Amino acid sequence: MTTLTAVRTSPLRALYEDFHRHPEVAFAEHRTTAVIADLLRERGLEVTTSETVTGVVATLANGKGPVVALRADIDALPISEQTGVRYTSETAAMHACGHDVHITSLIGTIDRLLAERATWSGTVVAIFQPAEEVGSGARAQIASGIFADHPAPDVVLGQHASGALPPGTVGSRPAVLQAAADTWQVTLRGDGGHAAGPHKTMDLIVLAAAIVLRLQTIVSREVPPNETAVVSVGTIHAGTVSNILPDELTFTVNARSFTEDVRALIERAVKRIVVAEAQASGLQEEPEFEHIVRFPLNVNDAATYAVVRSALEDEFDAESFTVVDPVTGSEDFGEFGTSFGVPSVYWFFGTGLAEEVADRVPAPNGHSPWYAPDPEIAIATGVRALTAVALRALRETGSRHSAQAL
Ligand code: ZN
Ligand code: ZN
Repeated sequence: MTTLTAVRTSPLRALYEDFHRHPEVAFAEHRTTAVIADLLRERGLEVTTSETVTGVVATLANGKGPVVALRADIDALPISEQTGVRYTSETAAMHACGHDVHITSLIGTIDRLLAERATWSGTVVAIFQPAEEVGSGARAQIASGIFADHPAPDVVLGQHASGALPPGTVGSRPAVLQAAADTWQVTLRGDGGHAAGPHKTMDLIVLAAAIVLRLQTIVSREVPPNETAVVSVGTIHAGTVSNILPDELTFTVNARSFTEDVRALIERAVKRIVVAEAQASGLQEEPEFEHIVRFPLNVNDAATYAVVRSALEDEFDAESFTVVDPVTGSEDFGEFGTSFGVPSVYWFFGTGLAEEVADRVPAPNGHSPWYAPDPEIAIATGVRALTAVALRALRETGSRHSAQAL
């Protein structure tokens, strides 16, 4: 694949810097959506945006063959950028997770596919997904009905920038790549009162303390020791001054899991412990649960993973491919494969660091106000990886379309 090794990044570099200057947080990616839609229309793709949700879906049809979906997420984070790069954020948000690299890499890949369209046949569906950072963007985009205007994919492929992998290399793993993440907000209500007369109140602070400690027995006493899981209480809010016991308390429980069984076990255990501790305290009102964040597992289909790995090893070289450990960070990419009922595969690519932040210790990675990828390495690697995998998938994916054509 020597034709792909020299990716000219300059026009893409200008695009990248534009996206980096104008970051928009989840579900507010209005400018980003408009810019992407214009770029794709200029390139002659069938482009759809939704009335109800940000993001873009576009189809590039090129004859008979499989339908390969390529997904990039487009939202930024509510972080104030500290990198000092020339093209620093002009909004209160920041592309601190590299989604600007993802957008640029997918557009660069479309350009490569257009330039080489005589060498492949099939259909590419480009998915520019909003609101990955809050875990509900993929679901919202699917629910908006936007995919009704596009062919149903046979496979879904995606990638994420990484400050941890060596620059210019790629990595992934078969089966579960990224944890499921769930957040429940729990509200307790009871009679507050004078801190000097706790026997006449329901002390929600003491109740919450018991719940928090007991929740820590889920991983240590209930999850099988050969499984990996995390349960954390990230927030507790109650009270105003020291001599009043509050009448309402809220806390959030964040859990990570690598199988649906463990995920369900944790959810049952959290609810059981909260309800039982509330009863043990004599709380009259039922605790209230709200499932406020829900990231699916990100599972790489084994057969498709083998195809993707082979394409990446051919494009870079075998030493440039790392089999990574499962990641406790989460990602809602898995919603697409599940929703379309087709395999999906996801991988990471090493971006290096921009010279402005290259000497920082520890080295900044995603979600840091100092994370700035090296633009040339990031764009070139993202385009090369996604193009190589897309071309391989177009040539090797069994398709309902080609099956119908037989
Ligand atoms: Zn992120
Ligand atoms: Zn991200």
